[in-house]
Amino acid sequence: MKYTRPVILIHGGAGDWTSRDSDTALRELSNALDRGFEQLTKGSSLEAVVEAVAYMEDSGAFDAGRGSVLNAKGEVEMDAGVMSGKDLRVGAVAAVKARNPVKEALKVLRDGRHVLMVGGGREEMINQTEVSGDTVGAVALDMEGSLAAATSTGGIRGKLPGRVGDSPIPGAGYYATTNVAVSSTGIGELILRVLPAKEVDMLVSMGFPLESSLEAVLGKMTSLFGEGIVGMIGLDKQGNGHAVFNTKGMARGVMSKDVKKVAVFQGDRI
Ligand code: ASP
Repeated sequence: MKYTRPVILIHGGAGDWTSRDSDTALRELSNALDRGFEQLTKGSSLEAVVEAVAYMEDSGAFDAGRGSVLNAKGEVEMDAGVMSGKDLRVGAVAAVKARNPVKEALKVLRDGRHVLMVGGGREEMINQTEVSGDTVGAVALDMEGSLAAATSTGGIRGKLPGRVGDSPIPGAGYYATTNVAVSSTGIGELILRVLPAKEVDMLVSMGFPLESSLEAVLGKMTSLFGEGIVGMIGLDKQGNGHAVFNTKGMARGVMSKDVKKVAVFQGDRI
C-alpha cells in the first residue's frame, strides 16, 4: 500500500497472539504511532523510529524495555539497533540492562566510533509485568525522503545469559538504505542465518517492488524453516509500506497524514 510521506510503520512482534493480548497491544501501538508520527512531522525518520520504539519499551506491553522477558538466570538482557538509511549509519547494543536500549543504540550511532556495543548498563532490570506482546520495531520515511529503521527486544524467554539475537544485528533485525527500511521479528537463531532485512534491501535495490520483495523473503524463510517463525515490516522511498509474517499474528500499525491503522491478525491489510 502506498502512503504519502511522512509515514511510519511499527510492529509489536510476530508470534502466537491471543485476542486478549491483542487488545492491549492495539492500544499501545496506537499510542506509539501518535508519538512516532508527531516526531516525524517535526524531525527526522531516525528520531521518529527511536521515539516510537522507546514508547513501546516504556509501555511494558511488549517484550522490550520494561516488558522484557527474563533469561535463564531470571535477569533482563536486552538488544536493540537503529539505522539511518541516507548515510548507512548504524548504532546497536546487545545484552544490555538499560531503561531504553533503543536510545542507547542511538547514542552509539551518534558517537560514530563503533557500531555494536555489548553488556552496558547497570540498572537493575527485573520485569514484573505480565507481557502480552513481543519484540518491537519501526520504520519511517520523513519529509526529506530519508528512511530509518529500529528494533528492540528482551529476546527469547529463558535464553542463556549472554545470548544475542537478531535484533541488534544490521541486515538481520533491521536495515535501512536510501531505498528501503525493514524491521524484523521472530526466532533470532533462524533470522541470523538468512539476514532477511538485507535480502529485502537487495531485491528492492535491484528494482523489485517492496511488497513482492518482502513476500519473497518470507517465502524463502518459510520454505527453509517452516511456518511460525518470522515477520517483517518494510517501507520504500516512494512510501510503499507492507507487513508480512508466517506466525499466527503480528502486532503492527501505520500512520501518515491521512491514514492510521493497527492490526494483529491475518486479514487486515497494513
Ligand atoms: N527476534 C527476537 C530475538 O530472537 C525475538 C522476537 O522477535 O520475538 O531476540
